[in-house]
Amino acid sequence: MSVLVTIKCPCSTCNERIEYPPDMCGKQITCPHCQQVTLLLAPQIPPEAQVPLDEARLKHNEVREAFEIERDEKIEAIKKG
Ligand SMILES: [Zn+2]
Repeated sequence: MSVLVTIKCPCSTCNERIEYPPDMCGKQITCPHCQQVTLLLAPQIPPEAQVPLDEARLKHNEVREAFEIERDEKIEAIKKG
């Protein structure tokens, strides 16, 4: 079973999205939308796509901190008897 992986990039002429296999990256093709020759560029990760990652990391730290505080409290409780 093979998984079809495609990259999407905007056409440099009409800005329509073109889907292409990764091995076509860097090649010139005729845009199916505007029929102009366009260069297939490697996809760029938009800045907004990186935000959820940071948020996830922050959330993870918060959860870990809460867990560590809880654990410390339990340890203290055990120490006190
Ligand atoms: Zn185009």
